[in-house]
Amino acid sequence: MKVAIRKIDRYHLEELELAVAEFLQPQNPAGKKEFNRLKRFFIKPNLLGAYGPEAAVTTHPLVLEAVIRYLLQNNKEVWIGDSPGGTVNVEQVWQKCGLKDLAERYPIKLINLSTHKFREISYRGYKIRLSEVIWDCEAVINIAKFKTHSLMAFTGAVKNLYGLVPGMIKSDYHRKYPGMREFAKMITAIYSIVKPCIYYNMIDGILGMDGAGPSAGNVRNFSLFMGSRSASALDYQASKLMGFKIQEVPYLFDALHSDGVLPSRVDIPHSFKHFILPEVDIKTVKISKDVMRFVPGIASYAIGKLFFFHPVVSDRCHKCGICVQSCPVNAIVYNSEGLPVVNPNKCIKCMCCHEMCPFQAIDIYKSPVARMIMR
Ligand code: SF4
Ligand code: SF4
Repeated sequence: MKVAIRKIDRYHLEELELAVAEFLQPQNPAGKKEFNRLKRFFIKPNLLGAYGPEAAVTTHPLVLEAVIRYLLQNNKEVWIGDSPGGTVNVEQVWQKCGLKDLAERYPIKLINLSTHKFREISYRGYKIRLSEVIWDCEAVINIAKFKTHSLMAFTGAVKNLYGLVPGMIKSDYHRKYPGMREFAKMITAIYSIVKPCIYYNMIDGILGMDGAGPSAGNVRNFSLFMGSRSASALDYQASKLMGFKIQEVPYLFDALHSDGVLPSRVDIPHSFKHFILPEVDIKTVKISKDVMRFVPGIASYAIGKLFFFHPVVSDRCHKCGICVQSCPVNAIVYNSEGLPVVNPNKCIKCMCCHEMCPFQAIDIYKSPVARMIMR
């Protein structure tokens, strides 16, 4: 399975258009026939919240513009949208993320997946609600952002598909699948359902994020733009470039398996064969998961007494209330001063509050043992 990687230092439309054309260009007559047959494309960016492009939380609008231009030049109809996390105002998201501007300049349709109709799919014991948009369109182009993730360690193309779950139903699934591994299996199930609709996957890693991603980490200029027909192969290679081992990203094994892709058969440009990005902070999101992986069930109660961590609201809080509304188990309540407070006994560590806080005001409290291990 081929993964294309381009080194691009900054967001420059012409350079991005060249890369997009290379990624999406049909490689043979059969591919050309397939591409010609497809009329309506849905672009699925990462629009986690109302962040400007410089925050490196969401897919950069120039990357989206390059893809939009390619599709329009090839006489395709273009729909684009997402269902941002929590209770975030979608209009504000479109404004801040550059979608409004794109819709004013190009004949594209913005779709709010939080309110668009959805379908419930039964798949291997799961009942998953997914936006109907992937069936309204004939093909999906999935364009993720290159970031660490406080729950899944890494977020790329596979995790980006979680935005196809409409609105607050995402919170229900966090409640239903609270553990990291349960949640990862559910993400893989979503990938298996959506996969036949995907035409191509890309990861915008020109600016990306390490440390406490996916929204409160460090903005990094990784200078990478990547693409593949397989989201699992793309995530395998992208997470490896950050320094992750395959077992450190909990959905990767299953996602690769569902694609029938062997990691050793992922084909990348020769110059990236032994390349790992320097000084990427992955330990902030990685080590707790490593530790818990080796804890046998019987010992987890005892270990849990010493090794624990949970989100805590800092004095940077602006009292916007987004974390309170986003918590799937109502573990955050207001104190007498109107400041949200996390109840660690109720918290299921889904990290939605940490992910959704627009002011990066939620820190992670670690017990002394956790601090020692996660240093
Ligand atoms: S912690 Fe963040 S999300 Fe929660 S109320 Fe404060 S600023 Fe808003
Ligand atoms: S407090 Fe935060 S991490 Fe805990 S369950 Fe609520 S949203 Fe998830």
